[in-house]
Amino acid sequence: MSTSIFTNDFKPQPYWWDDTPQPASNSQVLPEKVDVLVVGSGYTGLNCAIQTARGGRDTLVIDSQTVGWGCSSRNGGQISGEIKPGYAELQRKYGKNQAFALTREARIALDWVQQFIHEEQIDCDLRPCGRFNAAHNPRQFQQLVEYAENQPVGLEQDLRIVERQDQASEIDSDFYQGGLIIPAHCSLDPAKYHQGLYQRATDSGCNVIGGCEALHIERQQKGFIVTTSLGKLETKNIVIATSGYTGRVSPWQRRRLIPIGSYMLATEELNAALVQRLIPKDRVFSDTRKLVVYFRRSPDSRRILFGGRVSVFESDPVKSASALRQEMLRIFPQLYDARLSHAWMGFVGFSFDYLPHLGEQDGIYYAMGYCGSGICLASYFGNRLGRQLLGDTEARIAFNDVDFPTRPLYNGKPWFLATAVQYYQLRDRFI
Ligand SMILES: Cc1cc2nc3c(=O)[nH]c(=O)nc-3n(C[C@H](O)[C@H](O)[C@H](O)COP(=O)(O)OP(=O)(O)OC[C@H]3O[C@@H](n4cnc5c(N)ncnc54)[C@H](O)[C@@H]3O)c2cc1C
Repeated sequence: MSTSIFTNDFKPQPYWWDDTPQPASNSQVLPEKVDVLVVGSGYTGLNCAIQTARGGRDTLVIDSQTVGWGCSSRNGGQISGEIKPGYAELQRKYGKNQAFALTREARIALDWVQQFIHEEQIDCDLRPCGRFNAAHNPRQFQQLVEYAENQPVGLEQDLRIVERQDQASEIDSDFYQGGLIIPAHCSLDPAKYHQGLYQRATDSGCNVIGGCEALHIERQQKGFIVTTSLGKLETKNIVIATSGYTGRVSPWQRRRLIPIGSYMLATEELNAALVQRLIPKDRVFSDTRKLVVYFRRSPDSRRILFGGRVSVFESDPVKSASALRQEMLRIFPQLYDARLSHAWMGFVGFSFDYLPHLGEQDGIYYAMGYCGSGICLASYFGNRLGRQLLGDTEARIAFNDVDFPTRPLYNGKPWFLATAVQYYQLRDRFI
């Protein structure tokens, strides 16, 4: 008789929601008029709204689902200040100065988000744990060594190479071929962080309404009329903060965003000594595969939280949990008897150039496309966008100067994704 891989009280929803249910709307009534309407109540939207409300603008945040329902309450809680393209690639595309400015800006975002959390006294289990980026083959290990030894001048950071024979101090697994420690990266509880932002936003005077979908935006001479599922309202400014969930209401942004599913699971509570043995230093982990997996301990160190993209086509997270578990067991066969208590997924917003973007198009402000590094980038971009909307010229960042590309015939439905995933699956086996 086969035993279930799920616990009896298994939940097909984020582990984080057990302790931190999504905040309720602080208002039920759609006003007739506001100064700033923010569409999307995740890190981007709330960070932006905090700034505009504190700057004296009457600010409303709406979300088509419950407040914070998107990626911001369901991510892995791993904070990095990295953008996907490497320095050499950025230099080729944008020149030396811009490559430097973009890479540096992402590092600034990493420092900024930690400082912001401390200053705002947001209780979200923020930990300066460091990351272990694990090499999935010897060739990738060599690439990590080269990366650590050839850091661009002026952008050097503390990086430590760990050889395969020494990696037991970092991870109780033979799966990897060594790796790179990035001490500056950290972890938090994403839903607690989101809840803290929600409290700061509402304390600053914002109204936040869940279950209110923006359906249509009509430009007026001064401002906009926005049709929502709860009625119409007038707004001077509008901010699109919908990232991987960007839909028809903002077609220009939708044509530039690729929603990519990322899947996660949580094990049931494990023996504390086992968790300690698997990940001795409580670091966050990712690996060098294109179809990256990422994992960490839960903040109470009783579970393993494991994530990755495991399916070619988007699928029910409960169905894909089995494939994700297999991936986890390849790294930690010690978890064979561990049942799963939670499995969930969300849509990460990718851009065609793998860079995050913010700016203004046809009078509509937007920030999105963090390509999986949204905790610090969405927070920082939201904050800077809010300040830009207030007219603060010092809030401009290097990313303001980067075009947001699309592709001919792309309308927001990534028909090419399944082929790309299959290609990357193959590539990860050989490169
Ligand atoms: C499984 C998973 C793991 C991840 N792990 C990490 C990680 O470890 N580290 C990291 O840095 N990043 C991670 N990310 C990415 C990160 O969570 C996101 O980049 C970030 O939360 C984006 O925040 P946001 O506010 O821009 O968007 P979201 O938090 O996704 O919010 C967008 C909101 O817009 C709403 N919306 C959409 N359309 C409308 C409309 N028409 N009207 C009203 N509302 C609308 C949606 O309902 C949604 O709530 C992960 C993502 C996922 C899914």
